[in-house]
Amino acid sequence: MEKVQQSINIYPCPTAKPKPGQQSLGFGVHFTDRMFLMDYSAEQGWHDPRIVPYEPLQLDPASMVFHYGQSVFEGLKAYRTDDNKVFLFRPDKNAERMNRSCDRLNIPRIDESLFVEAVQTIVRLEANWIPVGNGASLYIRPFIIATEAALGVRASNRYLFAIILSPAGAYFGEGLKPVRIFVDDHYVRAVRGGTGHAKTPGNYAATLKAQTEAKERQHCSQVLWLDGIERTYIEEVGSMNVFFKINGEVLTPELNGSILEGITRNSVIRLLKQWGIPVTERKIAIDEIVRAAENGGLEESFGTGTAAVISPIGGLFWNGNDIPVNQGNVGSCSQKLYDTLTGIQYGRLQDEWGWTV
Ligand code: PMP
Repeated sequence: MEKVQQSINIYPCPTAKPKPGQQSLGFGVHFTDRMFLMDYSAEQGWHDPRIVPYEPLQLDPASMVFHYGQSVFEGLKAYRTDDNKVFLFRPDKNAERMNRSCDRLNIPRIDESLFVEAVQTIVRLEANWIPVGNGASLYIRPFIIATEAALGVRASNRYLFAIILSPAGAYFGEGLKPVRIFVDDHYVRAVRGGTGHAKTPGNYAATLKAQTEAKERQHCSQVLWLDGIERTYIEEVGSMNVFFKINGEVLTPELNGSILEGITRNSVIRLLKQWGIPVTERKIAIDEIVRAAENGGLEESFGTGTAAVISPIGGLFWNGNDIPVNQGNVGSCSQKLYDTLTGIQYGRLQDEWGWTV
């Protein structure tokens, strides 16, 4: 991993945009006044880390990212606590995952401590953009794109690392709401040996068609992805990791190369273990879930991710049949996990990780 010696240059930001009102925050539609940038060239390595006014990027139309998709990204949030402190949730894990994504996409690694420092510095500068209110946050989107202007399938010699920030409203404004899920055995998201364990745009592009069809044809809000080879084993739900509680035991698919290793997933496993609830990472066949639902053993199911934290699953649509989960209600485990994780993130509960800006 390359160590960047320079400190982050902070350029003046002469204008401040008007801030959106609490009601019109939404997700990913407003952007703050500044952004972080850093360049890579084969000669200089990663260099010139800087914070500049937010503005459109100028890129050559031949930039390799447009043609061969060499790009990675991350997603995390900054939270304002009741006593006006600003918390991050395990940003070092995002830095580690970004480098794992870089490895897979043949992008040069970044210095993980610089990643965290860059996030902390820009969030500190933009702190007045962090919305107040339970569930509201400042979404942080670090990303790397291949910027060398050249056609020809090979790794780029130039990259841009950027961090942009977007104030976001509460995902569940009125309490947790279970969602109906389409189990897809036609399209797949990723395959082992491919890029499923990396956070790279192509993985998301591959899901859009399935997502649209699930919404339009089956009125399902997300897709449950099965493995790409046997179309048998459960992988993820939408862009979240997935958990099932069966007869008191919590199950989640084991990391197999085609599943993204979620930071929320890791935190949920840790909390469940602390609470003495058995949790197992292993292969889970969709048939096993259907059988558990039929014989009354399926107690609850939920997705985990930075955006929603915990997203309860109220039912699965599989093979033309509706399979209700917990009669469409929020399970007690889902609720406790949500309350605990958001409690940590908003400073109401002790944070064993303790990241502030
Ligand atoms: N799977 C996919 C495909 C995702 O995009 C995400 C969101 N980053 C997750 C799982 C959940 O990861 P995290 O808990 O780190 O947000």
